[in-house]
Amino acid sequence: MTTGAWDLRVLGAGPAGYAAAMRAHDLGKRVVIVERGQVGGAGIHAGALSSKTMWHLSNDFATAARTDRGYHAVGNLEVSYPNVIESVRTAVSERRALLDRQLACLAAPTENGAIVTLLRGNARFLSPTEVEVKRLDGTIETIEAKNFLIATGSRPRVPDSIPVDGQLVVTSDQIEAFPSFPESMVIVGAGVVGCEYATIFANYGKTKIHLIDRQPRILPFEDEDVAEEVASSFESMGVVIHRASKLESLQVKDGKVEYVITNADGKLETIRVERALVSVGRIPNTSELGLEAAGVKLDKSGSVTVLHTRSSVPHIYAAGDSTMDIALVNVAELEGRYAVELMFGLDPRPIRYEALSAIMFLKPEVASVGLNEIKAQEQKIPYRVGVVANRLISRNIAMRETHGFIKVLAAPGTGRILGLRVVGPEASSTIQGIAFLIDQEATLDDIDHCVHPHPAITEGVQECARMLLGRSVMKVDVFGREGLLRCGGG
Ligand SMILES: Cc1cc2nc3c(=O)[nH]c(=O)nc-3n(C[C@H](O)[C@H](O)[C@H](O)COP(=O)(O)OP(=O)(O)OC[C@H]3O[C@@H](n4cnc5c(N)ncnc54)[C@H](O)[C@@H]3O)c2cc1C
Repeated sequence: MTTGAWDLRVLGAGPAGYAAAMRAHDLGKRVVIVERGQVGGAGIHAGALSSKTMWHLSNDFATAARTDRGYHAVGNLEVSYPNVIESVRTAVSERRALLDRQLACLAAPTENGAIVTLLRGNARFLSPTEVEVKRLDGTIETIEAKNFLIATGSRPRVPDSIPVDGQLVVTSDQIEAFPSFPESMVIVGAGVVGCEYATIFANYGKTKIHLIDRQPRILPFEDEDVAEEVASSFESMGVVIHRASKLESLQVKDGKVEYVITNADGKLETIRVERALVSVGRIPNTSELGLEAAGVKLDKSGSVTVLHTRSSVPHIYAAGDSTMDIALVNVAELEGRYAVELMFGLDPRPIRYEALSAIMFLKPEVASVGLNEIKAQEQKIPYRVGVVANRLISRNIAMRETHGFIKVLAAPGTGRILGLRVVGPEASSTIQGIAFLIDQEATLDDIDHCVHPHPAITEGVQECARMLLGRSVMKVDVFGREGLLRCGGG
């Protein structure tokens, strides 16, 4: 059966596809959105929302288990994995229900003809203008549209040498299926997802975590001081970090996971644990989309090649993880919305990737916006850097949480703000203002001039800016020697 032409056909109802469909609805367009799995994609399921729910619950548990805050649990503080997962599922279905409810409402055409129709099934291009949808009940429908958006996201990468069985050896897609907290678990890959799960399981204190990374340090894309702060916090929670280690083999033997690594010093080590989490990156869901039939070009990694969300075929766009440059919900949504505005002639403002903000849900929390020192050096961008330790900030002292620091990067001469890293509690609440200022090409002087509330974590950002301007309240001459303040660069 062939359905008449639509204004837009979206492949995938994750953050990119859903946001795009809603923006097209604003513009009075007729949209069909095809989803083969769950509406919300990895933004909700086995992804951003589910893992963040776990992280918050685990933090609450870790706080309740503390004995240094004037209270303690009477008797043992108990927690069961299935109960934690039940709360996670409640959060996931709450958010999912909102998305479903809205889709149900928008399925009826509005006065200006706008309509969003959800089709459940697997989508595949037959030609540049036709997509076949194989429905869950086996029926096949062919849809024509004036424009297409590829928003099919990504899935965990599984190296051939690792036998992922979904039970003892899992990816982030299956981690919620554990029957109980494992006694021990190796996490292969110390990027953001691996480190987030290391934090969650370490917070509960029921699982001995081993973390393997090929690089000499965790979070290799972040500045060394950021990665070291997180690594030393992990080690204080009992996490074993195999730095600069090569995974030689990982297999299931007698119901346990046995892995062999070559350590940094070249020695082979064999370790047995109860479970393994493989988190070595994600790959775009593009191989089964019939993109050859549509003439859409992919890069070496299988990501759709795009220029400002436009693929190699003028009326086919791509957004979110299917382009795989940056895998974040906020970026997926922005790109989906941008693509729609572009295809319907709105001449949108370009996305400012240099003002991109992100949070890493670790212990301590890490929030980032704009450049860090590694990227500035790679791109040969001159910068000045100011670092203020949280030990100097009133709010952190009041919270009894003084680990971590705040780091601001600015351009020499003009003082234009280039980037911010916040490592510590409530880091995520500090970055939005600076993301806005970077977008506005604001300067250190603007941060200093702004009236910050007190006591607030953002006073650390203000103090960094003042230090770079030579007018901080706390002085480098006094606290620099102890490493609590650092001011450097041209
Ligand atoms: C464990 C984890 C934690 C994360 N935490 C965060 C976080 O804290 N913050 C953050 O910003 N990001 C986070 N992310 C990343 C974020 O989830 C993704 O970047 C985001 O979901 C990408 O959105 P998307 O729409 O491009 O793709 P997806 O969310 O992957 O959605 C794509 C959709 O397309 C569907 N699909 C695929 N192929 C087809 C087909 N052929 N036909 C029909 N439908 C199809 C899929 O079923 C899926 O629903 C996390 C990811 C993971 C895995």
